[in-house]
Amino acid sequence: MDMRFIVVTGGVLSGLGKGIVTSSLGKILQSRGYKVAPIKFDGYLNVDAGTMNPFRHGEVFVLADGTECDMDLGNYERFLGVTMNYYNNPTGGKIFKLVLDKERRGEYLGVDVQFIPHVTGEIREWVKKVGRDSKADFVLIEVGGTVGDIENSYFIEAMRQLKLEDPMKTMFVHVTLVPELKVVGEQKTKPTQQSVRALQGIGVQPDFIVCRCDEPLGKTPRKKIALFCNVPEGHVISDHDCKSIYEVPFVLEKEHFGDMVLKAFGLKAKGKDLKEWRGLVHNILNPKKEVTIGITGKYTALHDSYVSIVEALTHAGAHEETKVKLKWIETTSLKDPAKALKGIDGIIVPGGFGSRGAEGKINCIKYARENNIPFLGLCFGFQLAVVEFARNVCGMKGANSSEIDPKTRYPVIDYLPEQFEVEGLGGTMRLGAHRITLKKGSQVSKIYGGKTKIVERFRHRYECNPKYVKTLEKHGLVFSGTNSRGDIMQFLELPDHLFFIATQAHPEFQSRLERPSPPFHEFLKAASRKH
Ligand code: GLN
Repeated sequence: MDMRFIVVTGGVLSGLGKGIVTSSLGKILQSRGYKVAPIKFDGYLNVDAGTMNPFRHGEVFVLADGTECDMDLGNYERFLGVTMNYYNNPTGGKIFKLVLDKERRGEYLGVDVQFIPHVTGEIREWVKKVGRDSKADFVLIEVGGTVGDIENSYFIEAMRQLKLEDPMKTMFVHVTLVPELKVVGEQKTKPTQQSVRALQGIGVQPDFIVCRCDEPLGKTPRKKIALFCNVPEGHVISDHDCKSIYEVPFVLEKEHFGDMVLKAFGLKAKGKDLKEWRGLVHNILNPKKEVTIGITGKYTALHDSYVSIVEALTHAGAHEETKVKLKWIETTSLKDPAKALKGIDGIIVPGGFGSRGAEGKINCIKYARENNIPFLGLCFGFQLAVVEFARNVCGMKGANSSEIDPKTRYPVIDYLPEQFEVEGLGGTMRLGAHRITLKKGSQVSKIYGGKTKIVERFRHRYECNPKYVKTLEKHGLVFSGTNSRGDIMQFLELPDHLFFIATQAHPEFQSRLERPSPPFHEFLKAASRKH
């Protein structure tokens, strides 16, 4: 087996951007000609992130195979262009479920099932399977949480054992915080020393220490960290603040991180570079134009809840040399859409669940439709656009989604038939990548380069009620995309509008910096024209 494992742990506090460091290192290794496979370990006992509140946990990202997962996997796909699956996001829940199911089948017969060797053994096998299946040269394993947590301790233990199998093939990278005390004007290394000691206490010596800091890491703290934490000075990497996450690969390149990692493994670079990426980052940092996009939502306080949408806009902006300014619109008590949408060049109504804020969103959609403001509806936004059109154009008073008003006279959005059969709420929505057939000559088909067959990702229980499709169409709504069978509506558009497009899908999940999502790209261009 020729693959290598790079395990990324975090110290001092959470939210240091371990995921971005891992993605950026992956990007650098790719640029050196190597194939990488990322893994994110999440210690919680939920099988997946699908049942978690995005307000607490950040966006639920959806993979092509329908896995609902942590938003870090979105960064991996965006940075590395890889398509991941269930196995790229082992969670405490998945690991224990595996072990318990095996135990019930009698596969450990005769022994008492223990954390060591059974749980840790399954984790080692899991990690190797991902590497084998993706034929990776490097498996990058980000351990969620902070060193010292109970939740990830058995996982780090498994990684310690992995290194023991072949010490030359596994490496540990520890990401920590180096705070600067403003009054003293000094970068402090003690928290790093202590978190490295915690790691050493469970048998792991980090090979590299990546220091998150405001300003580039100074000479003295670098020396100190090397000496106290038992690594060569060149293995202390400064990961100081920069303007865009997409710039981080270059911050790390300046520190020779990629070269040092390859050297430590005894490997050589194999050509290639980050030229295209560099050009796009240049555009992000030096925009020529600016647009303001409104995003409605009830989790407006946390931009993490909509991170894929924000990134999809950033990607489109990079290609258009346009800075995207965001205006979050809380719709719970929105009365006057004209006031709320003042000064915006386009509006996105994203995915959502439940009734809170829905009327405000419907009002915003009406305003955008009537005032020729570019509108992009995503999933719930698509459903509410149908509701708005039914009410205000087709005259179906009180039309609604049965998710919001189960007693509505006109349930224009209703349960997908298959949803009547599901049991439980975990992983039971219509999930993952599905084929979409686009109407020839429609705006949407043009946006996708004239294609009539595309694939996007989904996450929903409700759909446009087929019973009302004809009436809606008769009044001018064009359903320009359906599933292959033609019975689930997936795209809608209004022909005489500057840009009024909505989709039951979540195209934001497939947007990449190098390859922005077509609907987002066109939406941004329309907003730019409006501006
Ligand atoms: N709540 C809606 C549904 O389940 C929309 C879901 C979403 O926006 N992801 O169909």
